Amino acid sequence: MAEAQAAPRTYTLYEARKRIHPQSVKGKFRSIKWAILWVTLGIYYLLPFLRWHRGPHEPSQAVLIDLANGRFYFFFIELWPQEVYYIMGLLILAAFTLFLMNAVAGRIWCGYLCPQTVWTDLFLWVERVIEGDRRERIKLDAAPWTAKKIGQKAAKHALWLMIAWWTGGAWVLYFADAPTLVKALATGEAPLVAYLWIGILTFTTYVLAGFMREQVCTYMCPWPRIQGALTDEHSLNISYRYDRGEPRGSVKKSAQLKAQGLPAGDCVDCFQCVAACPAGIDIRDGLQMECIQCGLCADACDAVMLKLGRPTGLIAYDTDANIKRRMRGEPPVYKVLRARSLLYAVLILGVGIAMLTALATRSFTGLSALHDRNPIYVTLADGSIRNGYTLRLLNKRPIERRFTLEVDGLPGARVEAVGAVEARDGKPILTVGPDRTEEVRVLVFGPQGAHLDPSTPIVFRIVDLASGETASVADLFKAP
Ligand code: SF4
Ligand code: SF4
Repeated sequence: MAEAQAAPRTYTLYEARKRIHPQSVKGKFRSIKWAILWVTLGIYYLLPFLRWHRGPHEPSQAVLIDLANGRFYFFFIELWPQEVYYIMGLLILAAFTLFLMNAVAGRIWCGYLCPQTVWTDLFLWVERVIEGDRRERIKLDAAPWTAKKIGQKAAKHALWLMIAWWTGGAWVLYFADAPTLVKALATGEAPLVAYLWIGILTFTTYVLAGFMREQVCTYMCPWPRIQGALTDEHSLNISYRYDRGEPRGSVKKSAQLKAQGLPAGDCVDCFQCVAACPAGIDIRDGLQMECIQCGLCADACDAVMLKLGRPTGLIAYDTDANIKRRMRGEPPVYKVLRARSLLYAVLILGVGIAMLTALATRSFTGLSALHDRNPIYVTLADGSIRNGYTLRLLNKRPIERRFTLEVDGLPGARVEAVGAVEARDGKPILTVGPDRTEEVRVLVFGPQGAHLDPSTPIVFRIVDLASGETASVADLFKAP
């Protein structure tokens, strides 16, 4: 019934922005949004200052992206550039989680967790504190410029810029030791690139959260377009329950209709849901691309219903299928567990288990080899053959370690490491500093007088003298 009444929506390539002045609301969704906002912002601004002791040679910042040394530190995890697949795994996990959230409850990411939503909410809060709620802001914007208006606008923009600057400032703290960088920034001794990034992020935060707001979600973000393919009729979405709301009308009109035995809906056409919407849309027109599923219209409507003594939930998380079922007189059915959501959950579990297993069994020792290209072998005066290699040893532990080096696959062969001053049982001992890689030139001498194939597979192996941990790499021993 309401579907037939909904006005057709038109989209143009470019539309001049109509300024939106969302009304503040109170309710369960608003409370959830406040809680998420303060928790996520708290984490973002304070996390760089959290300390995590890793040992004397390691940085003590819990979360640090150390670009200079190619390390990513996350509490007890330290990733090397060779382990970038963990980051890929995390991105895949994040994508599946987003898909699952969408399949279960539509764009809840957009409405509650997306940085664009969180910062826009914060900026709106500042605007309300300084300029007042919806009505005062509309009045202020239409009023001529006076000293009071200039003062209010200046105060708002100054606060916005301060928040934006803090946002940019916090970002760079993830890339260096936070307390040291804060001091350097304050004394003007920080690297130029830090100031540049703070400037860029201050500008983008100020513009995106202060001015562009819902336009980012509607025009710039690809997610609203993608989510259509990830949603089905059983996905929960903020919906106007037209089965209950229509036909709309004032309390008086609805009483008259009911007195005549005619149907009357619960919607009193007060437009409180529209006034509260940060996207400036009317949810009663049906699910729309602009809707970020924040639930503020539901809070606004619940307040109206409570005042009228009618049941809340005229606007609520519901499914299209249920609205249609209720119109047919059937009870609603909620299918959170269905093929789509189960598939995403299984994929999340699979990727999560694979990542945890890889993390739990990751090696802290690594070895790679590069055979000399020219000459590929040398025939010595005594007739024996010598091959040269460059070995790279990886020590991912925060302590200095000593390894013996041996070679397998060529009985009677002897191995020498250039610069090694110690040996054990004829095996050179190589030392690698904490959390370091070490490049070593290695010479392998084939057994004297033996007939050798032109290409013999060999294996280099290093063994940690303290823990017994090993790493090996295969290569070839070349001969004429
Ligand atoms: S229609 Fe409701 S849920 Fe959608 S953006 Fe507006 S207030 Fe949020
Ligand atoms: S707030 Fe509720 S009652 Fe008011 S117009 Fe919106 S849906 Fe109707």
